[in-house]
Amino acid sequence: MNREQAAKNKISVLKGVRIRTLSLWIVAGTILVSVLIGNGIINVMRQHQELAGMTQEYLLIKDNITNMSHGSDYLTEQARLYAITKDSSYADSYFQEVTVTQRRDKALQEIEHHLQGKDENAFQSAKEALELSNELMDLEIHSMKLAALSTGETLDSLPVQIQDYPLTEEELQYSPEEKSDSASQLVFGVQYQSMKQKIDENLTDVAQSVTSICEMEQAQSEQDMRNALVRQSIYTVFVVLLVIFSYIMIAVLILRPIRIYVNCIKNNNVLEITGAYEFKYLAAIYNNVYEMSMAQQDILRHKAEYDALTGLLNREAFEQLKLKLRKNSSSLALLLIDIDVFKSINDTYGHAMGDKALIHAANLLEESFRKADHVLRIGGDEFAVIMEKVQQDKPQIISDKIDKINWILQHPQGDLPKYSISVGIAFSTEGYNDELFRQADEALYHTKENGRCGYTFYQPK
Ligand code: GH3
Ligand code: MG
Repeated sequence: MNREQAAKNKISVLKGVRIRTLSLWIVAGTILVSVLIGNGIINVMRQHQELAGMTQEYLLIKDNITNMSHGSDYLTEQARLYAITKDSSYADSYFQEVTVTQRRDKALQEIEHHLQGKDENAFQSAKEALELSNELMDLEIHSMKLAALSTGETLDSLPVQIQDYPLTEEELQYSPEEKSDSASQLVFGVQYQSMKQKIDENLTDVAQSVTSICEMEQAQSEQDMRNALVRQSIYTVFVVLLVIFSYIMIAVLILRPIRIYVNCIKNNNVLEITGAYEFKYLAAIYNNVYEMSMAQQDILRHKAEYDALTGLLNREAFEQLKLKLRKNSSSLALLLIDIDVFKSINDTYGHAMGDKALIHAANLLEESFRKADHVLRIGGDEFAVIMEKVQQDKPQIISDKIDKINWILQHPQGDLPKYSISVGIAFSTEGYNDELFRQADEALYHTKENGRCGYTFYQPK
């Protein structure tokens, strides 16, 4: 499985809550709670309207009961006044109320309209009160007829109902005083009074009944309102919880990963796979790119520091090493190495054989020196070895290595031609300096001048 496939697999197994899902849940929750709250508000408003409507209705019924009572009392009053004063205007007012104003009949209609289906008994009581009041009318008109006759005047100016009211023969025989007394007796008598009382009782019953209905409905409405308010409070708690939940989810799934990612990027680290799915996905992608970039950087760094042909550190690395060793005050030895008459290998055996000879020499150098020593290719057929913490009083360690290399080069295996190296060696007790290079170069020149295939330790003149 290659790196790309492995990265794809890593991404495909990622799990986690998606920001889209989270926002959908938050939106859904908000809509739900808003609908509940809106519904709750509508409910409370409806309860309130119902309560207001009920109170209005209660007042209307009460008004109509009062109207009915006033209408009945008004008739009593006019009939009584007529009986006493015989003033025809009272008779006119009486029939004006009965035929035109009709307070009692209209009130009963209203009461019927509001009570029907709610309290049939109360309505029947009201109806009975009107019937009783109508029965009283018979006594009242009877009284008015007797009163009118007691005056001895013609009845033509009086309402037709009085004119037409029939009297018994006996009554017709009454003297004017007897007729007047009898008229008063009819509207002030015990029978009249008890019927009047009955009407009042009926109307009181209706009023009480309406009051108790209203009280019941008010109690119910109050209970409903209280329930609605409790529900509203619960929804409000919901909203608060929803807000807290949303914040925690946003903090955990979005804000925290952003903070972590910023820190990771600042510190040049791979990203921690955390938070919402989208963040994990981005982090995984970033990490893949990051790892690929690191690998490419390694390759580039290697290319920049190592010689492609021999695999040794190159000229650039030599410059870096020199800089580093300049600051170092320990003892070191610099060996400058050049392949002898290398041009002739190229010329005689071809460039490929020249390359092979270079690789062979490089391998021998690397094998001969310690791991801690730096073996470099610093030019076409030029090499350098820097030995740190080397003992200047034991040059033989170095010369033995060179002798051995040259022996191997002089006894080649396979198709390699015989060749050799020349070496110049210089020591320093306090790190690298330009003088050291010059001395090693001078020693190398000396070797070349003295027949090649050997070494020269720099000797101050
Ligand atoms: P001397 O003993 O004086 O050093 O003689 P020389 O022939 O080695 O002379 P010089 O050092 O000037 O020649 C180096 C030659 O190495 C010249 C160049 O063509 C050859 N060369 C440089 N780089 C490479 C390489 O990468 N591969 C091959 N095959 N030859 C190279
Ligand atoms: Mg050479």
